[in-house]
Amino acid sequence: MTHNPVKLEIADGNRLRIAWSDGQVRDYGFRELRDRCPCATCREKRNAPPPSPTQLPIISEAEIQPIRIKGMTPVGNYAYSIEFSDGHDTGIFTIESLREMGAEVAT
Ligand SMILES: [Zn+2]
Repeated sequence: MTHNPVKLEIADGNRLRIAWSDGQVRDYGFRELRDRCPCATCREKRNAPPPSPTQLPIISEAEIQPIRIKGMTPVGNYAYSIEFSDGHDTGIFTIESLREMGAEVAT
C-alpha cells in the first residue's frame, strides 16, 4: 500500500515534518536526511573504506554548520528532490524511502 505526503512543513526550525495520507505524522532531522542522501556521490562516500587512523579527518566549513533544508521539489509523483544548506541538491528521496525514515510523532 502506498502512502503519500499530504503536508510538508519545517517544525521548530530544525526538522522536516511530513503528514501522510493515512494520518501518520513523521519528523525528520535535517542531518538524518543529509546523511541518508541517496545520490550516487553520497552513496559512494558512505561505502568508502574509513580513512587511515593516522590521517586526521578533514572537516570542511560547510560540514560544521548546522544543516538545513532550503527547498523540496516534487519529482514526478514518486519522489522529492531536497536542497540542503550546504549546497547539495542532487539527492532524490523517493516517497517510499521517506516513509521509512524519520520518527513517528504522536498526534
Ligand atoms: Zn547526495
